Amino acid sequence: AVKAENIHKSFGSNEVLRGISFTAEQGKVLSIIGASGSGKSTLLRCINHLVVPDDGVVHIGTETLRSHKRRDGTAVSSDIRQLERIRARLGMVFQNFNLWSHRNVLQNLLEGPLHVQQVPKARATEHALGLLAKVGLSDKKDAYPNELSGGQQQRVAIARALAMNPDVLLFDEPTSALDPEMVGEVLRVIRQLADEGRSMILVTHEMKFAQEVSDHTIFMHNGRIEEEGPPGKLFNQPESERLRQFLLPAY
Ligand code: ATP
Ligand code: MG
Repeated sequence: AVKAENIHKSFGSNEVLRGISFTAEQGKVLSIIGASGSGKSTLLRCINHLVVPDDGVVHIGTETLRSHKRRDGTAVSSDIRQLERIRARLGMVFQNFNLWSHRNVLQNLLEGPLHVQQVPKARATEHALGLLAKVGLSDKKDAYPNELSGGQQQRVAIARALAMNPDVLLFDEPTSALDPEMVGEVLRVIRQLADEGRSMILVTHEMKFAQEVSDHTIFMHNGRIEEEGPPGKLFNQPESERLRQFLLPAY
């Protein structure tokens, strides 16, 4: 499980996270929804200290990672070793794929296992090819990212995250940079991972998908968790007026 306790983050005078606590259960999908600018990406990035929280604690399994604000105002992770251990347990998938453009698909998948985890090449390659088959891209292993569609690139990015054997996958709007016709192929892969019992935290604007795929949903507003619960409840019987407004269909 991933547990966040009392996460605070400000950018200058902009207090983006005002004490957020949540638990993402093992083998479950946690979705995070909220208006643009409500701090969803910041919260997701705080979990692996890609954005270092000003205060708060992140627990993953038995590992604990704290951070604090120095006198000069910069936030720092309290323990670099712990930071590395926590990061090794997390796989992140971004909105814009972030593949290495000068490496082909297979090389993108091998980079971390070979050079960070020191996995033997034969084993890493076998694992990578299995993951490409899983996301339906076996025939693209020698292609370069610019030769792929957005949907294909995002599936490579998911396979690349999986290549590191993370305990938890973090997704930040994995489909929002995609043309509509490519959203489905990426959601299918995410759904398959959910069905396999992968632990995931998913920031998304795909409300229908969030409702279908997640076990628990958090609605963020003004740097706080405004409402959370099972998606069936949140999406169909929201208690918060703000959540009700947020869920109104956009015309
Ligand atoms: P969206 O749905 O548009 O992706 P979000 O909920 O992910 O929005 P964040 O990206 O977390 O929102 O941003 C929350 C607030 O923090 C915004 O006001 C944003 O301008 C600010 N912010 C985020 N990152 C930084 C940064 N690196 N420096 C300064 N301000 C930032
Ligand atoms: Mg965002």
